[in-house]
Amino acid sequence: MKSILFRFLSAALIGAAALTASPAQAAKVRVVTTLTDLADFARELGGDHVDVFSLATGVEDTHGVPMKPSFVPVMNRADLMVSVGFGCEHAFLPALLEASKNPRIQPGHPGYVDCSPGIAPLAVPTSTDHSEGDVHPYGNPHYMLDPVLAKTALRHIYEALVAFAPQYQADFTRNRDAYLAKLDAKIAQWQAEAKPLKGLQFIPYHEEWEYFAERFGMKVFGTIELKPGIDPTPRHIEQVITGMKAEHVSFVVREPQFPEKVPRLIAQKTGATLLKLPIMPGGVPHTDTYIEMMDFIIHTMVAAEAKRG
Ligand SMILES: [Zn+2]
Repeated sequence: MKSILFRFLSAALIGAAALTASPAQAAKVRVVTTLTDLADFARELGGDHVDVFSLATGVEDTHGVPMKPSFVPVMNRADLMVSVGFGCEHAFLPALLEASKNPRIQPGHPGYVDCSPGIAPLAVPTSTDHSEGDVHPYGNPHYMLDPVLAKTALRHIYEALVAFAPQYQADFTRNRDAYLAKLDAKIAQWQAEAKPLKGLQFIPYHEEWEYFAERFGMKVFGTIELKPGIDPTPRHIEQVITGMKAEHVSFVVREPQFPEKVPRLIAQKTGATLLKLPIMPGGVPHTDTYIEMMDFIIHTMVAAEAKRG
């Protein structure tokens, strides 16, 4: 394991040394984000003044974006490193930060942007024993699926951009205000459109949808996973099926990073509708932006409910 990591890091550092910034790009703020939703926000806020790179493409597990050697030179040159926080990226971000050898973006430095401050996490574990592999050690980090809470991330990225490049503050502010106006209008539209979903229950694979459900008045009926990061046992699947039948759960939600087999089986046995829904932009086709992703999620659920009658 160590030697693989060493070789990975060596290759990455040689790549970093070979790169030189071109003068045309020098004026741009170089932003790296862990996930695609944060990248979309950074692009909206930064406009022409930013160069944004997301480590994830949208289909990955938010807790396990595969580390590529090519990430290291990009992070080596980054001005800002934007993350979800609450330990969401703890399986890959700390190692990449260390490999990047970039002092600006290390935790505690101004270039390290944690988007979670200001958000009260749901489902904070009462036990500090993480020996069972729980990937939510500081509570549920998936607040970005609530478009109201997602505005907190927008604020953190805006503040970091202004702090790094105050000369562009007027543009960043104008971009922020324009995007917030667009997002707020969409939120009102999603709330209205999601009215038929109120009170409905669904079961996702991963504990990913609590903030979303709270925002739109839905209920999460447990998870297919035994607990965050732990695959289901046959006994758990049986219990889920029995419980879902009794509770008339409407949907089984399969996130793109998980295999379809078990969700499909559960849907077949319970009569619930199986829905493949993205958890960040790019997770399924035609969800390149945050707004397109939320549109897709709401439209898909509402259409499925209308079909169920
Ligand atoms: Zn999670």
